[in-house]
Amino acid sequence: RPRIGVLALQGDVREHLHALEAVGAQGVPVRRERELASVDGLVLPGGESTTMDKLLRAFDLAEPVRARIADGMPAYGSCAGMILLADRVLGGIEGQRTLGGMDVTVRRNAFGRQVDSFETDLTIEGIDDSHDDPLHAVFIRAPWVEEVGPSAQVLGRVEGGPAAGRIVAVRQGPLLVTSFHPEVTGDTRVHRLFVQIVGESR
Ligand code: GLN
Repeated sequence: RPRIGVLALQGDVREHLHALEAVGAQGVPVRRERELASVDGLVLPGGESTTMDKLLRAFDLAEPVRARIADGMPAYGSCAGMILLADRVLGGIEGQRTLGGMDVTVRRNAFGRQVDSFETDLTIEGIDDSHDDPLHAVFIRAPWVEEVGPSAQVLGRVEGGPAAGRIVAVRQGPLLVTSFHPEVTGDTRVHRLFVQIVGESR
């Protein structure tokens, strides 16, 4: 079974590890370069992208993660993790860097104060039965994807309300990002999709 790391600097590390185990992968917390070297794919959890950027550099992990992504390692970023995987970020703080890899522009805290956090049902392409049985998505001070490059494929958009049409799930080859937090709902279909992506790339 694939060994999948969860970047364990901040965020819902345990929940992601559980979700990965639930869909048949081995979940491994990653805090060091040698742990990174042992995994077939990496989950970047939500949290605070500015803090995670600083921690990645403090733990000497930014360059190694960047190098593995450039080398084709599958990665899945949720919320702040999505910001970290984006080539461009709007609404970041001075000096904020991303790891990059995905040709998208994301906007931080995009949904605004009125709807800081919200939940909605989504249809996500590539997820089994997501039309019949929509994915319940939890957004927490979430970013959205404002622009996608030609090789990035939009998998899901907000379907109603003031943010209808906003892009919240994208895949580009072995890279997957979602604005929302699938690890908090007990619905493991996004993790299943990522494990499938890791399997395809091994
Ligand atoms: N607002 C956070 C950021 O900019 C992301 C929030 C989250 O990951 N739940 O990094």
